[in-house]
Amino acid sequence: METNGTKGLLLEEPLIFEKSSEGRVGVEPASFDVPAADAASLIPKGLLRDGLGGFPDLSEIDTVRHYTRLSQWNFGVDSGFYPLGSCTMKYNPKVNEDIAGMPGFTKLHPYQSTDLAQGALELMYELEGYLSEISGMDAVTLQPSAGAHGELCGLLMIAEYFKAKGKPRTRVIIPDTAHGTNPASSHLAGFKVIPVKSEGKGVLTVEAVKAALDRETAAIMLTNPNTLGLFERHIKEIADAVHAKGGFLYCDGANMNAIMGIMKLGDLGVDVVQFNLHKTFSTPHGGGGPGSGPVGVRKVLEPFLPVPRIKKAGRKFKLVYDRPRSIGRLKAFYGNFGIMVRAYSYIRRMGGEGLKRASETAILNANYLKERLKGTYQIAFDQPCMHECVFSDKIQQAHGVSTMDVAKRLIDYGYHPPTVYFPLVVPGAIMIEPTETETLETMDRFIEAMKAIAEEARTNPELLKNAPAKTKVQRVDETRAAREPVLRWKGVKK
Ligand SMILES: *Cc1c(COP(=O)(O)O)cnc(C)c1O
Repeated sequence: METNGTKGLLLEEPLIFEKSSEGRVGVEPASFDVPAADAASLIPKGLLRDGLGGFPDLSEIDTVRHYTRLSQWNFGVDSGFYPLGSCTMKYNPKVNEDIAGMPGFTKLHPYQSTDLAQGALELMYELEGYLSEISGMDAVTLQPSAGAHGELCGLLMIAEYFKAKGKPRTRVIIPDTAHGTNPASSHLAGFKVIPVKSEGKGVLTVEAVKAALDRETAAIMLTNPNTLGLFERHIKEIADAVHAKGGFLYCDGANMNAIMGIMKLGDLGVDVVQFNLHKTFSTPHGGGGPGSGPVGVRKVLEPFLPVPRIKKAGRKFKLVYDRPRSIGRLKAFYGNFGIMVRAYSYIRRMGGEGLKRASETAILNANYLKERLKGTYQIAFDQPCMHECVFSDKIQQAHGVSTMDVAKRLIDYGYHPPTVYFPLVVPGAIMIEPTETETLETMDRFIEAMKAIAEEARTNPELLKNAPAKTKVQRVDETRAAREPVLRWKGVKK
């Protein structure tokens, strides 16, 4: 078996401005074979610049090396295993990138007339249909540009629904296992958040929900599978309970990777769901975007969907703006189109059977990891999991070693650490999501590394306390790094 670990050369690299040498150029254009014209005679004065102040002067090779070296400081799915729970950092087939890069898509202008963008509209129309089919919803909008943006869209529609009825509602119920974006989106949409506890059971009970429900409840917002990687088994009864009070069931569908092709959220009583195309549907993510968070709704909420809507009239596609009950626009133009192309291409290539197999493999991989690592690390809820599993540092605590130490040591072994200290209901959580795209060999090597680290925790905890030892930067003060970022690297002597 290939050994775990890291070895190699990471080159120091100053800021590009510090490498600048005045007058040096990267590319010399060929000499003109037409007479030179005076720019001032052709371009209005207000649009002319005196020069390009503040730009570095570099040769082509120094520019190439600068960015190549910076890219080597990074870690991505294309360079190694990245089991970041809740994030679905899976490999995205390059064919979908090729298709999204086709000039017919990339060279479209958002102001182009719909007559000249029929292919794009058809793709969006069909993608809405596929997402409706996958989720069991009646209608889908592609406009929101992230999962959280989709949540906001769904909640604004729910708020508008009650306003239109003349009976605005004020509350949204959210379990303690929810992703942090759920309460944030609810608050932004004007709701008061009512928390409910999963009471150490890992999943919500209908009793806990019923106790929080009243006639002010606009919606309950849950994630299925939830952030513990567990299937909310009582979701149907929870749906019935919230419907009985006239409220909606919102499902955060960011974890679609575990259920697509296997079951439809609509069949479980869900009324609104957002997708994260940048997790499950072939767009790599991280670093803040770009994303796409389409939202599916049941028929009663369809009039409230953002404008424009894409409609098919005969064989033509058009954009419809005249929808008086719509919440309006959420995004300039039509959403992040390139991400829609990748999702469309991915769904068409996989087919229904392929999507189902992806979900099944994601679940199988997570359960394999869980079974092989339990005992070495404390498992939070020992029951079959969905696409991710949650451990804690309870066993390692006896040696004074914490989740953070384990995570940092994993970097020395060449892995991106899993999600840590989330979900909050598990103290010292280590949340692992292998995804369906990893091979058995990759997972076995990761398991070996995790076991080796547990052994080090027992016999040589100092190793973990001083990890990572092999990176350019060791442990940073993460809070201060976020609050007082030093954007100028002071490491070079000129
Ligand atoms: C990732 C995620 C979100 C947020 O999605 P963004 O695109 O980052 O806004 C919301 N809920 C869950 C469960 C998630 O995993």
